[in-house]
Amino acid sequence: MEELKEKNKIEKKNEIKKKIISLIIPCYNEEEVLGILHEELKKVTGKMPQYNFEFLFVNDGSKDKTLEILKMMAKEDDRVVYLSFSKNFGKEAAMYAGFCNAAGDYVAVMDADMQDPPALLPEMVTYLESGEYDSVATRRVTRQGEPKIRSFFARKFYKLINKISDADVVDGARDFRLMKREMVDAIVAMGEQNRFSKGIFGWIGFKTKWLPFENVERAAGETKWNFWKLFKYSLDGIFNFSNAPLQIASVIGLLFTFVSFIAIVLIIVRKAIWGDPVEGWPSLACIITFIGGIQLFCMGIMGQYLSKTYMEVKKRPHFIIGETNGEDIKKIK
Ligand code: UDP
Ligand code: MG
Repeated sequence: MEELKEKNKIEKKNEIKKKIISLIIPCYNEEEVLGILHEELKKVTGKMPQYNFEFLFVNDGSKDKTLEILKMMAKEDDRVVYLSFSKNFGKEAAMYAGFCNAAGDYVAVMDADMQDPPALLPEMVTYLESGEYDSVATRRVTRQGEPKIRSFFARKFYKLINKISDADVVDGARDFRLMKREMVDAIVAMGEQNRFSKGIFGWIGFKTKWLPFENVERAAGETKWNFWKLFKYSLDGIFNFSNAPLQIASVIGLLFTFVSFIAIVLIIVRKAIWGDPVEGWPSLACIITFIGGIQLFCMGIMGQYLSKTYMEVKKRPHFIIGETNGEDIKKIK
């Protein structure tokens, strides 16, 4: 009897010592994949008994049965915590809500559709445990199964943003990464409204190990991103982490002032020598519209920064949680 008590005590002690790994999973209309994902998570985490897990599902205002399924999963598995937004706030907000509420010593973000293979987790954890790295990030080395045009523009985008910003974004980088607590705290501290997580991860620094893997296609359901949404997201990335567009606008302005100044001098000289032939108004009209276009373009760039500043100044919450089964959850932030 005494022996058993002693054993229980030791087991309890070990239990307390176990590190917690939080998995943040943003879900928007993912009813088709949640079951598959949960099974896979059970399988993978079953192989890692030395850790406790928390599956932090963030329901980003889904219009299908995602929330109902999450509730059912929570009943069956007490590691499932769901945070349900009051409406769709976007994946960035969902990730931020996860970071703000994750209890883990290690925290990972993972897509719901299995494109971020949970099977990579054990390897990722060993890198963190080695003490050499603060985070383990993943990148796709292939973009198989993705429309060619999308891959093409994605590559160009990564080249451009690395050239003109200090965000340090790796080509093919996914949001799937496992981080230590310190890094999560740094991300939470970056409370900007216009969020571009790939840039934020790069900007805060820390030692990162990159794990390459082959692209996996969605297990079920459909992608929530069309070309236009991705295009806008990439512009967000650029405007959030770089002032280069503003500099380009200034340089263009300067260049045109210089050119027009030379032209004025030339015209005056020509008039003084040959008189005033009243010709060339079509070319003049072209020049005026051209310069008008450039001016509007530059004003548009400034408008981008102004609108971003406007959103930041308003300090609206990033997310509003309507329903959750978790304790001590920050519902608005
Ligand atoms: N997602 C989200 N809110 C959105 C759009 C997407 O939480 O407004 C989630 C989605 O449920 C998935 C992840 O973000 O878990 C990635 O989305 P998706 O697979 O559609 O993007 P893709 O892999 O095609 O880039
Ligand atoms: Mg996907």
